[in-house]
Amino acid sequence: MINTAARAALPDLAEMELADLEQFLAGLGEGRFHARQIYRWAYKRGVTDFHLMSDLSKTLRASLDTGLVLSTPRIVGRDRSSDGTEKFVLEVGPDGGTARRIESVFIPETPAMTFCVSTQVGCAMGCAFCLTGKMGLVRNLTAGEIVGQVRVLAETLALRDTRFNIVLMGMGEPLHNYDETMKALRILANASGLAISPRRVTLSTVGVVPGLDRLTTEPMMPNLAISLHATTEEQRSRLVPLNRKYRIEDVLAACRRLPVKRRDRITFEYVLLDGVNDAPDDARRLVRLLQGIRAKVNLIPLNEAAGIPFGRPADHRVDAFAQILADHRVTVSVRKSRGRDIRAACGQLIVEGQQRSPGQRLASAMSSALSPAGADA
Ligand code: SAH
Ligand code: SF4
Repeated sequence: MINTAARAALPDLAEMELADLEQFLAGLGEGRFHARQIYRWAYKRGVTDFHLMSDLSKTLRASLDTGLVLSTPRIVGRDRSSDGTEKFVLEVGPDGGTARRIESVFIPETPAMTFCVSTQVGCAMGCAFCLTGKMGLVRNLTAGEIVGQVRVLAETLALRDTRFNIVLMGMGEPLHNYDETMKALRILANASGLAISPRRVTLSTVGVVPGLDRLTTEPMMPNLAISLHATTEEQRSRLVPLNRKYRIEDVLAACRRLPVKRRDRITFEYVLLDGVNDAPDDARRLVRLLQGIRAKVNLIPLNEAAGIPFGRPADHRVDAFAQILADHRVTVSVRKSRGRDIRAACGQLIVEGQQRSPGQRLASAMSSALSPAGADA
């Protein structure tokens, strides 16, 4: 019997790409081909106990049991909204004794099933209307923890054999945790595992320009959603502090550099704040900014919450804004907020008790903004 401390030091299957697992097996003197079998058990069938992987030899199962772990986030809270949206509070870690909590959300039939997953515990970016931003960054999630959310939701909701989409719109800024996020996409895409193509994944970013540029070098490009939210540099800098480093013009220039295929479009998310960025002039400026980009705009009327110093515009203002875009042939949709009654909507994800001080938050937002590739540390 191996004790918990010794187990924690073992290599973790959750963090292994297929090639890593092949190498691990070779180290055990076992055939590399077993990697695909193990991946199938863990990802396609949801089996986490090596002893139950019945097409492996008894010897191999025993070696796996003593030499490898498979970490899986633990469900510590689950809330179902009247509209069918479900919020999961998951625990990862423990980090030296402190378990970390994150949130993942299941959104049914919109029209596709969607899993909204987190890429960080908290977020360093401090956007003025986002509760996650108020937490500051606690830590990055590992690739295994990002994929683990998908495994847990698929298993718990019995959706392993159903097609679903993934949006990286939970807690955190994915391009501020670039390497682990991209590794997670590779694990998710593996044909022996969940086989979720990057075309079914949307990465939402506040516009970390070096990260956007790095994406152009990736063999696997997810769909992109850029959180724009404002049409003048001055206004965006107030709402999105990262704009002081990567301005609207820099973010849009990076978008123009992306190798977007003919049928692809970049989504621009725009949170509408009552009386702040929702005037007809804002809509007209937005049309001009997006000229020459294959864009679609997703308007998100603010999800209000205590601690967010803005209001949600009335429906007629949202409609008028959308109409101006549509009149100028910009594809536009208005996001129906799901799960507001359980605080599962965009920007409402926060886990109590993990906040850092505002000073720390600003410091980390600015220091990360100044590092290359969005401070992948
Ligand atoms: N950090 C990434 C992804 C997570 S946030 C990003 O910012 O894009 C996902 C989306 O939720 C973003 O578009 C963000 O602007 C939006 N959002 C944040 N707070 C919100 C709120 N209170 N109401 C509505 N949308 C919000
Ligand atoms: Fe971070 Fe996105 Fe929230 Fe901004 S909107 S604080 S980038 S999670």
